[in-house]
Amino acid sequence: VILLDQIRKSYFIGKNELPVLKGVSLNINRNEYVALMGPSGSGKSTLMNILGCLDTPTSGKYVLSGHDVSSMEDNELARIRNQEIGFVFQQFNLMPRLSALENVAVPLIYGGVGKKEREDKARAMLEKVGLGDRYKHKPNELSGGQCQRVAIARALVNDPSIILADEPTGNLDTKTSIEIMDIFSKIHASGNTVILVTHEEDIAAHARRIIRLRDGVIESDKMNAVKEVLAH
Ligand code: ATP
Ligand code: MG
Repeated sequence: VILLDQIRKSYFIGKNELPVLKGVSLNINRNEYVALMGPSGSGKSTLMNILGCLDTPTSGKYVLSGHDVSSMEDNELARIRNQEIGFVFQQFNLMPRLSALENVAVPLIYGGVGKKEREDKARAMLEKVGLGDRYKHKPNELSGGQCQRVAIARALVNDPSIILADEPTGNLDTKTSIEIMDIFSKIHASGNTVILVTHEEDIAAHARRIIRLRDGVIESDKMNAVKEVLAH
């Protein structure tokens, strides 16, 4: 589903060019479960933002589900993103004034789904992540783990084929992290492609493939022995 060919990305600060990705080529198939690791500043988030069509590469080619997104206009890119990608962030990125249900329903507004159907879908997603009894709560009335569940439900609501998560457990304690990783394992088991960034080997052990980035290039790309995660 994902084909990257010689992706480069530089940020420009005034006239100074800061090269961050220095030629990343990568192939990710449908229903893979990939952990992206690497030191702070190695370009993981930059790569995830490009994969999620939140940012565009400086050069190189990106083909997402058969669409050449590297040459797309913004509105077309937004359409493909809505259709194909669910994004989960370290800071949850929920809207503080909206309830859990309303947060989950936001992507459906852009899809032109009617109010009743939006609520039904959002509620079903919240139930799927174990938050069926919290749909009226606002983010500040929820724990960090619950907020991340809401964010995952929001990422899933459009039924995207690819779930991207940038340090989804970075703000959570160990027990809550395990619960969140159980949800990602289920998402993978139900047929989605999952790509997540983490600093922790224990978290990465859930994935089937581990890609390590260093200084803007892929340092290693290895299959991971499947570790049976013990149910609690
Ligand atoms: P971390 O593990 O700390 O999250 P990372 O691997 O995700 O790190 P990136 O966020 O991709 O790293 O950043 C890579 C480099 O690009 C860093 O040196 C960072 O300072 C720089 N950078 C990131 N975003 C921008 C931006 N919007 N403008 C300028 N420089 C940026
Ligand atoms: Mg990062």
